[in-house]
Amino acid sequence: MSEKTLFQQIADREIPADIVFEDEMCIAFRDINPVAPTHILIVPLKPVPTLNDLEAEDEMLMGHLFLVARKIAEDEGLENGYRTVINCGKEGGQEVYHIHLHLLGGRQMVWPPG
Ligand code: AMP
Repeated sequence: MSEKTLFQQIADREIPADIVFEDEMCIAFRDINPVAPTHILIVPLKPVPTLNDLEAEDEMLMGHLFLVARKIAEDEGLENGYRTVINCGKEGGQEVYHIHLHLLGGRQMVWPPG
């Protein structure tokens, strides 16, 4: 059995995904179960499980994810705005324990989120 996370397997092309961006620090692909017209996951290649597992050395990496989100939002034509989300742990609604930033757009978001 592979010990890689699902998202590492996507990054290694072992599981197919609709990849929209990739660089030396992260990969971004369309969510398989989109909840908005644009729903993209931006995932660091480093398999940090949750936000609680981040270390001081990951500070730049996490900032990078947001700059990539901004770039992809522009590419996707989300000029009217968008939402970024990181779910953390069970009550945060996290399903895949490889930290990722959701980029959601293309419809009006509501608050509070579910
Ligand atoms: P989270 O609940 O924050 O852990 O988000 C996990 C996300 O991964 C969910 O929105 C899922 O729809 C998405 N997901 C699960 N499997 C895949 C896959 N094979 N390819 C793309 N997205 C996936």
